Amino acid sequence: MSQKKFTKPFTQQEGMPDEVIDRAVEILKGGRLHRYNTLADEIAEATLLEQEYANYQEAKYCIACTSGGYAMQIALRACGFKTGDKILANAYTLAPVPGAIHAAGGKPIFVEIRDDWHIDIDDLRAKANSSGAKFMMLSHMRGHIADMDAIVEICNEYGISMIEDCAHTMGAKWKGTRSGNFGRIACFSNQTYKHLNSGEGGFLTTDDDEVAARAIVMTGSYMLYQRHGTAPPEEVFQRVRLETPNMSGRMDNLRAALLRGQLPNLDQNARRWNERYQTLEFGLRKSENLYLPERKQHEEYVGSSIQFQPQNMPASSIPQLVDNCAKRGVEIKWFGDAEPKAFTSRYDSWQYIEDMPDLPKTKEVLSRTCDMRVPLTFDLEDCALISSIICEEVDALATN
Ligand SMILES: *Cc1c(COP(=O)(O)O)cnc(C)c1O
Repeated sequence: MSQKKFTKPFTQQEGMPDEVIDRAVEILKGGRLHRYNTLADEIAEATLLEQEYANYQEAKYCIACTSGGYAMQIALRACGFKTGDKILANAYTLAPVPGAIHAAGGKPIFVEIRDDWHIDIDDLRAKANSSGAKFMMLSHMRGHIADMDAIVEICNEYGISMIEDCAHTMGAKWKGTRSGNFGRIACFSNQTYKHLNSGEGGFLTTDDDEVAARAIVMTGSYMLYQRHGTAPPEEVFQRVRLETPNMSGRMDNLRAALLRGQLPNLDQNARRWNERYQTLEFGLRKSENLYLPERKQHEEYVGSSIQFQPQNMPASSIPQLVDNCAKRGVEIKWFGDAEPKAFTSRYDSWQYIEDMPDLPKTKEVLSRTCDMRVPLTFDLEDCALISSIICEEVDALATN
C-alpha cells in the first residue's frame, strides 16, 4: 500500500502583501531608514508603528527594537534589575530567555512546568518564597497561558515585578485581557516565525512611565527621545536620561513599515491560525495514543504551533516517531532531546548557567513533548492530512 505523503515546507511564511511592498520600496527610495532621520514635518515609520502597536495592545507605551531577546534584556534593566539579582522563570522556554537573563547579569531560578506546559503554580509559590526573587520572566511558551489570576496574586504577595515573554502570545487574551497586560512589562518578537514578521524585530510594552523612559534611552534614542510616539513626559526623561546607558538596538523604518502593514491583519491571521490548529487538534485526538491537554475556555490563544504527547510508548521511541513522520514530509520537533536541535533545547543544555537544579517534572513532561509549527501557508486539507499521518505513525509505534 502506498502511503500518503505531505510535500509542503514547514518553514514557509506567507509573502508580504503588495501594499506593504510598495511602502517598503518608497522608504528605500527615500533613503531615510534610520528612525530619527526625518524631514521637518515627517513622523517616522517606527514612531507610527509604536503608536499603532500600543493602541492595539492597549498599553500606554510601546518601544520598538531589534529583537524579542533584546527587548527582554532592556526590560530587565529598565525595571531596576541589577547584576546578581535572582529572577524566577519557567524552565520550558527558548534559549533567548536564559540568554537575556544571563546578558543582564541575572541568576535564574527555574520553576517546574505541568503536563499542560503551564508553569507549576505550587512550585512558583515555593520558589518565590525560598529565593526572595523580586523579578520574574514568564514565557507563555508555545502560546499556552497559565492561570494568570494565581500568578498575579503570587507576584503581589511577594512584591515581584513580572515581565511577560509574549513571543508566542501576540494577539492572544486571557479572560478578555490581552496577554502582556498582566505584568509590569511585556516583550514581543517580530522574528519571521512569530505573529508579525519583519525578519527580526521586537516590542517592549508597559504602562510604567519610568520603565518606558529608560527603555527608550536604552534602545539608543540619544537626546531625541521625544520623537517617540508613545513617550512619557519630559520630566520623567530629565530624571533618567543621563543615568541610563545607550545600548543601541533601535527599530529601523524599513522593518517598521513591514510591521505596520501587517498589524491590521493580525486578528484575522489569529483566526486563520486557529482554524488550522483546530483542524490538526481534531485529527490528532482521533488517536488514543496521543495526549493533548484541554485548553481552558478563558484562554484565547493563537494556534501558530501545536504540541502533543505520544502515549503508550516509551519516550525512547519518540526519535523513531520523529524520523518516521519526517520520511512522510511531516516535521515534528521533540523537546526531550538531551542534544539541542534547531530551535528546540532543554533547560539542562544551557551550561553557562551556574547551579542548574534538577527539574524532574519538567524533564519528564518535555521527554514526551512533540511540537509542530503551523504556517499559514498550509490549508485545512493540509492540516487534516498531517494529523492523519501523525496518527498512523503513532499508532504503529504504540505498544497497546
Ligand atoms: C522567539 C522567541 C524569543 C526571542 O525572540 P527573538 O526576536 O528571536 O530574539 C523569546 N522567547 C521565545 C519563547 C521565543 O520563541
